Amino acid sequence: MNELGLLEKWHAVLYNDESYNGRFFYAVKTTGIYCRPSCKSRPPNIENITYFDSAEQAVSAGFRPCKRCKPSGVKLPVEEWIAAAAEYIDRNYMHPLTLALLAEIVHGSPYHLHRTFRRVKQLTPVAYIQQVRIEAAKRLLVYSEHSVSEIGIRIGLPNTPYFITLFKKKTGHTPASYRKKNTSTNGGLTE
Ligand SMILES: [Zn+2]
Repeated sequence: MNELGLLEKWHAVLYNDESYNGRFFYAVKTTGIYCRPSCKSRPPNIENITYFDSAEQAVSAGFRPCKRCKPSGVKLPVEEWIAAAAEYIDRNYMHPLTLALLAEIVHGSPYHLHRTFRRVKQLTPVAYIQQVRIEAAKRLLVYSEHSVSEIGIRIGLPNTPYFITLFKKKTGHTPASYRKKNTSTNGGLTE
């Protein structure tokens, strides 16, 4: 039975009203995470929220429990938490990303996220972001006609000199020479 109106639910979320815990759950489309009304995380945009009557409904709609307010009542395995962070990076590498932002998205402290991420994935969140961006740049260099600076923008590194420096550090080639090497013979990959 759930007779709460949308406005009432929104207010409960906005004011972290724990008297509503158990009466409904809210999920945020942009993060894929669901919470209890009392969760102290930053209030999401109202248009990104979906409400559920039970945790089970949120899970079957594809949302993960928040690590902070633990709406499922059980502790999230660490691996799943880190997988959520990595998945967010995979989907959003083209936007500005910082450790602080990532920590806020997956509801943990930057320090704890950094340490746990490194332990689980053998590289830091920042190194992972760079890796994802460089792999995307390689694909665009070979399979698109975009200029180097345009590709930098598309992979989240709009500062062209920085993009070139990072690319060279990670691959041993400049973006231009990587493109030349991999597209020289009849347009196909040489490797
Ligand atoms: Zn939460």
